[in-house]
Amino acid sequence: MIPAVMPTYARWDVAADHGEGPYLYAADGRKFLDFTTGIAVTGLGHCHPHLVAAVREQAGRLWHVSNLFQIPGQERLAQRLVDHSFADTVFFVNSGAEAVELTLKVARKYQSATGHPERSRIIGCEGSFHGRTFATLAAAGNEKYLDGFGPPMPGFDHVAFNNLNEMRAAVGKETAAILVEPIQGEGGVRAPSPGYLRGLREIADEHGLLLLYDEVQCGMGRTGRLFAHEWEGVAPDVMAIAKALGGGFPTGACLASERAAVGMVSGTHGSTFGGNPLAVAAGNAVLDVMLEKGFLSRVQAMSEALKRRLEGLVRSYPKLFAELRGAGLLLGLRCLVPAGEIVARLRQEGLLTLTAGDNVLRILPPLILGEREIDEAITILDKVAARWPA
Ligand SMILES: *Cc1c(COP(=O)(O)O)cnc(C)c1O
Repeated sequence: MIPAVMPTYARWDVAADHGEGPYLYAADGRKFLDFTTGIAVTGLGHCHPHLVAAVREQAGRLWHVSNLFQIPGQERLAQRLVDHSFADTVFFVNSGAEAVELTLKVARKYQSATGHPERSRIIGCEGSFHGRTFATLAAAGNEKYLDGFGPPMPGFDHVAFNNLNEMRAAVGKETAAILVEPIQGEGGVRAPSPGYLRGLREIADEHGLLLLYDEVQCGMGRTGRLFAHEWEGVAPDVMAIAKALGGGFPTGACLASERAAVGMVSGTHGSTFGGNPLAVAAGNAVLDVMLEKGFLSRVQAMSEALKRRLEGLVRSYPKLFAELRGAGLLLGLRCLVPAGEIVARLRQEGLLTLTAGDNVLRILPPLILGEREIDEAITILDKVAARWPA
């Protein structure tokens, strides 16, 4: 008999009950160090007191109104994102996939509004993940996720990630934009070579294309900067964010430059829930914490500390781990034994981690991580590795 919850997930044997900072507690009393953070969502850990207070206060005042109304909290959150990014304007949505969908719409609209309605194709990268809607599945082109869902939505081309020659060769008369994750998350925690984003920017500018970033996973402080592309200093024209933006409240956003958003006039896009008062209260509370002086530099310091320890682990167990990947606190250990089996053993020992493509063990600690949690995680990793395959 089919379960009441549609069985599209192979769920773990953990019934989530409550959380506190870096820890998640199961209904049966087990305590876990949570290095999954709801897949890069609860960036500030579980039930951060400032977020709890902000959402409680807002919940007692006003939850929802339509975007027909002015929503002061939404204007404030948009302005803060504009002030801290390349963008001039922001539209709020409810998820990563929706944020990417709008990013694609903005790009196509830009081309048609500037006299190039024939330019509608988007070039994406192999190994990408952009969400589970028809357009985002087509944008990523992952056969596994497209299988059985009919013909993929047309208008997308794919080239190898981190390969500028392939990208340049794929540009045609109908190309509208390039879409890329500055660091691939689901695809295997893959960071491109230095200069890759710069090269994409040059290709886009040379051919009149827009450069679109999907920072749904790598953005919002995850790499120790508010946005991952800041490390390379190469701005996009449009960018999708979500996951950690609401700290666990479902919210996302599409950020665009004024030039790119030229076609997005009244009536061209909408959302019932996007940017409602409760969602933007969560988003503003997240920014209060992330923009505090010293927050992001502390993330960088913790990342360096954790990376050093993980590199030590790779050296100690060369039969288990091939390399450390990623940046900031978006890290991956490429495994030489099935990553999923290590993840399952770590879970039994009280450490929650994830897998990613390329047989990678993905590590997404909360950004509030301290030395103590690093020690605790490394102790468990070391114990499981030392006993492997027990
Ligand atoms: C998770 C993710 C998405 C999709 O986000 P949803 O909120 O699940 O729709 C899109 N892009 C990237 C890079 C992601 O990691």
